[in-house]
Amino acid sequence: MKIEAIEARWLRAPIPEASQHTSDFGRLRTFDGVLVTVRTDDGREGFGEAKAAVGSAGDCASLVTLIERELAPPLLGRDPRRITEAWERMYCGTRGDLALARGRSFPDVARRGPRVAGIGAVDTALWDLAGQSHGVPLVELLGGKCHDELPAYASGGWGDVDSIGAELSSFTKRGFAAVKMRVGAMDKSVEVSAARVLAARAALGPDVELMVDAHGTCSLAEAKRFARLVESAGLRWFEEPTMLDDVRAAAELRATTDIPIAMGESLSTRFEFAEVLHHRAADVLQPDAGLVGGVTETRRIAALVETAQLEFAPHLWGSAVSYLAGLHVAFASPSARILEVSLGANPLLRELPESPPEVRDGKVKAPTAPGLGFRPRADLLEAWTVPV
Ligand SMILES: [Mg+2]
Repeated sequence: MKIEAIEARWLRAPIPEASQHTSDFGRLRTFDGVLVTVRTDDGREGFGEAKAAVGSAGDCASLVTLIERELAPPLLGRDPRRITEAWERMYCGTRGDLALARGRSFPDVARRGPRVAGIGAVDTALWDLAGQSHGVPLVELLGGKCHDELPAYASGGWGDVDSIGAELSSFTKRGFAAVKMRVGAMDKSVEVSAARVLAARAALGPDVELMVDAHGTCSLAEAKRFARLVESAGLRWFEEPTMLDDVRAAAELRATTDIPIAMGESLSTRFEFAEVLHHRAADVLQPDAGLVGGVTETRRIAALVETAQLEFAPHLWGSAVSYLAGLHVAFASPSARILEVSLGANPLLRELPESPPEVRDGKVKAPTAPGLGFRPRADLLEAWTVPV
């Protein structure tokens, strides 16, 4: 079996005005992502996803060019089953042979950001192909499932102090026993964020798990004050409290509160996660397969999290491709306890797949279709492709 072609498409799905939401990232008018298709000489197609921006609305043109012109050519004609070797070749660029011969990585100089996102898309497509060619769901190639089903949490929560309770209660009415809301710079002050959280808790009652996500926008002092003000809310976790490149700020916060700290959706490669663990900065680690380096890197991070005896909760806010990539790894990890289900409008998750991912009574069953279990609808693929 050989890799015959690697194609990257920028997908941009419009979101109807009534379903758009606004956060610190701005108003989400479209949902964007890069869909990678790897074709083999025996007629199979594997799918992967790369992101230019979390929550999308980023410009994906440079990512498409990088994947097609830089990452793809050295892999053409190679065996798609040699996935870890392919990852190393893409990561090391022109020094791939040298690195593989020495048994150490000699990464390309521009080794983070779009490059690793692109590597991850190709990598995930190779895993998809591997699962399809064995006729088994990807989770079986990762050691098999540790869970028959996992609870999901509804991820949204942009409402103000007067509407947040009703917004989150509408999620629990759909069967979710856990919900996540946004806080931080989208509010005028820490006090406003705290008031919204306390209003949410009052509306939800004591039994619903409640998480908060600040998208890395609090100063360390603000994060400490917020954690103190919401002490009575019994939060399941405080996600991305402070600026992501200052891992020690999160570590300092974690040392002052018993609210579990979550992070990782914007981090790149297992090396950045190793730093988080080294500094004891988080309790819940959240790699995004579309940014972190694909299934290969996500499963390596799951192993690090298992070793540290912490919680693995992949970031699943993307198209159905990165959602499924993270989900398969989660089902294969004993450290996964809950899955993210975005309740923001997301046509790439809910409309693009021929069979959209299912959530019933707030729970997700272990995947059973071969590979990732993703096939795109051809009509939407054409309609939503942005020419590059
Ligand atoms: Mg988040």
